[in-house]
Amino acid sequence: MDGCIFCKIVSGEIPSLKIYETDKCIAVLDINPANPGHILIISKKHFENIYDIDDDVLEDMILVAKKMSIRLKKRFECLGVNILMNNEKIAGQMISHAHIHVIPRYEDDKVIITYAKKEITKEQFKEIAKKMSEDDTKDSEEIIEKEKSKDNKKSTKKENIKDEWVFR
Ligand code: AMP
Ligand code: ZN
Repeated sequence: MDGCIFCKIVSGEIPSLKIYETDKCIAVLDINPANPGHILIISKKHFENIYDIDDDVLEDMILVAKKMSIRLKKRFECLGVNILMNNEKIAGQMISHAHIHVIPRYEDDKVIITYAKKEITKEQFKEIAKKMSEDDTKDSEEIIEKEKSKDNKKSTKKENIKDEWVFR
């Protein structure tokens, strides 16, 4: 997609440190790593996020995330791994091209992934469970159409996007 930084990384127009690829995705080092070894799995084809990504591509990406996690564990002896996918601006998605983060974790690494627990009543729990159990045949089509008509590009914060590597 025109103007998409991850499409440019996939095509090679923008340099990246690529460590693995399949016919559907690439794994590159994140330019602003939470920890050394922070990896991004990026779909080769442009999808915005979890709502519109093709199932086979997502399946491939999660398997690559597993492979990368095992490499991090074996080769960098991390103590754990976080697998993250930010979807939409409110959830922290800065680049509107589907990607999965693989973040190796170490003791006292100051990476904070947390949330405040909310109080939910028994009734609310039941209501949520009911709503979420209902048939979803039409959900995906509707949400994808809605996403397409929305200007999601606004979620890209220019200052967080780099197209060159600067080593300190
Ligand atoms: P997200 O907030 O989930 O959209 O994450 C976007 C990620 O892309 C951030 O962690 C950035 O550090 C990373 N990033 C931005 N530009 C580049 C680049 N040129 N090469 C590698 N990673 C990048
Ligand atoms: Zn793209």
